[in-house]
Amino acid sequence: EKPSLALLGLGAMGSALARTWLAAGHPLTVWNRSPARAAALAAEGARVAGSAAEALAANSLVIACLLDDDSVGEALAGTDLDGKDLVNLTTSTPAQARARAAWARERGGRYLDGTIMAVPPMIGVPEAGGYVFYSGSPELFERHRETLAVPAGTTYVGEDAGFAALHDVALLSAMYGMFAGAAHAFALIRNEDIDPASLATLLADWLVAMAPSVHRTADHLKSGDYTKGVVSNLGMQVAGTPTFLDTAEQQGVSPELLVPYFALMRRRLDEGGGDEDLTGVVDLLAR
Ligand code: NDP
Repeated sequence: EKPSLALLGLGAMGSALARTWLAAGHPLTVWNRSPARAAALAAEGARVAGSAAEALAANSLVIACLLDDDSVGEALAGTDLDGKDLVNLTTSTPAQARARAAWARERGGRYLDGTIMAVPPMIGVPEAGGYVFYSGSPELFERHRETLAVPAGTTYVGEDAGFAALHDVALLSAMYGMFAGAAHAFALIRNEDIDPASLATLLADWLVAMAPSVHRTADHLKSGDYTKGVVSNLGMQVAGTPTFLDTAEQQGVSPELLVPYFALMRRRLDEGGGDEDLTGVVDLLAR
């Protein structure tokens, strides 16, 4: 007999999660604010609770996958968390996650925060590589590890309940930087006789080839020696920036995505970082 659990929230993500637990044979109680979404899952074998409190009463493991932190507060208002293991897969900030963990503990519950690094079609598809960052109660994570691994991979990042949200935002922030760079690259060829598909192939390979440089950045940050293993020093890189800005101008492309990064590179160079590569920018941002 697989462990039973309750799931609060049957939006696009909650419904995808629910189906994987049902398919794996876990007795599942579901609750959704609007009852219509629960009816679809009842047909697939879920028990439907008439309220969040009713879903909690029948299960010690409770998963919430709601819109935002406010909706978690609303859905769980007045419910009894004593002895419950609450896993909150609702996107929140680190501060919201920490406050929600304290809130759950005050009510006698254990708390694990989770951030989902996947879109609904990747849930229940191990080959898709989706996973969930977890942080908070290590006991809760260990106890329910197998159940939590049903919809997607699990990566535990620490006892601080805010760390899952922090890792999520760190990864997605880097992703937006990559998207910004790709947008600039496509803009450069926008009005030329160059096939965007051929540029896309080159770009994807180039970004993959460059990605491992983050390990050198980590090495610098840990050792404090930002010149170790540097192959393209900052002095040379800053000297090259006019080529990027002039090319953008010649192509009629706004440099607005590049300018702030180049300004940080220049500032680090002016502070004496000419023999480093780009690690020093981290400290300019984190000051
Ligand atoms: P949806 O918008 O599809 O669903 C939102 C869910 O929250 C619904 O079940 C809705 O209920 C419920 N809800 C909203 N407000 C309240 C409230 N005040 N009280 C009770 N229930 C409420 O969102 P998703 O399912 O896509 O996302 C859920 C979480 O998963 C979010 O935090 C999202 O950031 C995260 N996530 C989503 C991803 C995605 O690609 N979809 C990817 C990674 C994370 P009702 O049906 O009654 O409106």
